[in-house]
Amino acid sequence: MADDIGKRYFFPRLAERNIDSHGVTFLWNHLCAACREQDLKSDPTGKTILSKIVQHCSKEIDFIDSRTPVTEAVIKIILSTRNRGMSTEQITNELKSRWSMTTFPRPVSVKIISRLMEEIDGIE
Ligand SMILES: [Zn+2]
Repeated sequence: MADDIGKRYFFPRLAERNIDSHGVTFLWNHLCAACREQDLKSDPTGKTILSKIVQHCSKEIDFIDSRTPVTEAVIKIILSTRNRGMSTEQITNELKSRWSMTTFPRPVSVKIISRLMEEIDGIE
């Protein structure tokens, strides 16, 4: 869809000042194992969890690996840039560079990602 070129996708619900409990759970599910363990001891807000994903989890080698489903990978990429909004082209390039370092690089194109964006819940 030509109309969508340059459109930047993000999760509006996670951009609010107070992220609701649904959003907190959603974010928590994208933390790495080490951060999850830490967070069980505290009562983190959505913003705290998002910061951890940006500063820690997204820098871990297995944040996105060759087994990560593409939908999951797209969500993680958007979160890793603090949910600031990314175009399908930016997402595709980021995925390509992440997956090129894995043992089984996956095929990914702007076309594939554009189609996928319509199916991701909560993204706009
Ligand atoms: Zn982490």
